[in-house]
Amino acid sequence: MYLPQEIIRKKRDGEVLTSDEINFFIQGVANNTVSEGQIAAFAMTIFFNEMTMPERIALTCAMRDSGMVIDWSHMNFGGPIVDKHSTGGVGDVTSLMLGPMVAACGGFVPMISGRGLGHTGGTLDKLESIPGYNITPTNDVFGQVTKDAGVAIIGQTGDLAPADKRVYATRDITATVDNISLITASILSKKLAAGLESLVMDVKVGSGAFMPTYEASEELAKSIVAVANGAGTKTTAILTDMNQVLASSAGNAVEVREAVRFLTGEYRNPRLLEVTLASCGEMLVLAKLAKDSEEANAKLMEVLDNGKAAECFGKMVAGLGGPADFVAHYDNYLEKAPIIKPVFAEQNGVVSAMDTRAIGMAVVSMGGGRRVATDEIDYAVGFDQFIRLGEVADENQPLAMIHARSEEQWQEAAKALRNAIEIGGEYTPTPNVYGQIRAEDV
Ligand code: URA
Repeated sequence: MYLPQEIIRKKRDGEVLTSDEINFFIQGVANNTVSEGQIAAFAMTIFFNEMTMPERIALTCAMRDSGMVIDWSHMNFGGPIVDKHSTGGVGDVTSLMLGPMVAACGGFVPMISGRGLGHTGGTLDKLESIPGYNITPTNDVFGQVTKDAGVAIIGQTGDLAPADKRVYATRDITATVDNISLITASILSKKLAAGLESLVMDVKVGSGAFMPTYEASEELAKSIVAVANGAGTKTTAILTDMNQVLASSAGNAVEVREAVRFLTGEYRNPRLLEVTLASCGEMLVLAKLAKDSEEANAKLMEVLDNGKAAECFGKMVAGLGGPADFVAHYDNYLEKAPIIKPVFAEQNGVVSAMDTRAIGMAVVSMGGGRRVATDEIDYAVGFDQFIRLGEVADENQPLAMIHARSEEQWQEAAKALRNAIEIGGEYTPTPNVYGQIRAEDV
């Protein structure tokens, strides 16, 4: 028998907690015998003392096991169960293409996604711009759509990792969100509760990333790979660039439109293609659906070009309540903003830097994201045809097209974009994909 305050004291004094102590504390979080004050103190001791990898593994497993852990064995999928998670970005619409692409190559992707957080967009918010799409189906429907379409993207149900919900809510109001041990356990407890066999973690780097520096992103990636593999789920992290908007668009309906056009081959932004292939390729290799990234890329390009990936996406949308002809007629279903017009830079020159976080916040300010949890989303607003770093902004090449609800909103968004995009400074190109961190690297 332990006491929560003794566990907090031990960690406060720099000692290492045992798995039993961590389990006891997290069980107390889940059954409300540990108070909010104790969670706050626990989080703060970890903030100052960090956890060892075995402690992080114990914390992740305890939080994963605090609620339901999905067991898919009764579904007999007949293929590997794989997933991807990203630390979040702006214009990061990869999940919408990646799930169907991996499904078309023989994987099964039961993806539990989140809503927008801070300046980052949320996959669920994007999917909800599709009329009828249900992000909260029953577990039976979730399993059946995953089986039939190879992929189902839905929202977190209340019974997955409930301890994380309490810990996260307390961290949010006690300045303890930005800690690698706690972030690792929080992200992984939810993902691993979805019954995955393997996972690819896309850790973003740059001005729109969650972590402030390359070194911090790399440290988080290493922590996630060590802990997830330690918890029994084969996991690789990839470090990808978020120094500019990833896709050509940022918003909700605008990103869904881009995802469908990507899948059908109407338009594929090369940066988005490279980053999506990097994640999908690792997923196929981890799941043994390809022997190396070269074979994976060839398979993935094949299912993009022969329409099989688009077909899986269409089946997922229809299976979860959306229109049966969504892929063919997406423009009839996705809402359009009343004002769509370009914004030009105030001076001509090379685009040398983007404050991607500020661009994400501009989408939030337009109503494309939430300031508080109860805010309603305006699915139609956002940006598309985004200029890229290294391109020349002039009277022919706008910074972006702004999709706005009103002229006043267009003016505000134009001002925000002009402030966030630097023209004529020193431009140092960054890679789209910095590298991978595999189990053997940590
Ligand atoms: N996302 C999460 O789910 N948890 C964290 O701690 C940070 C980001």
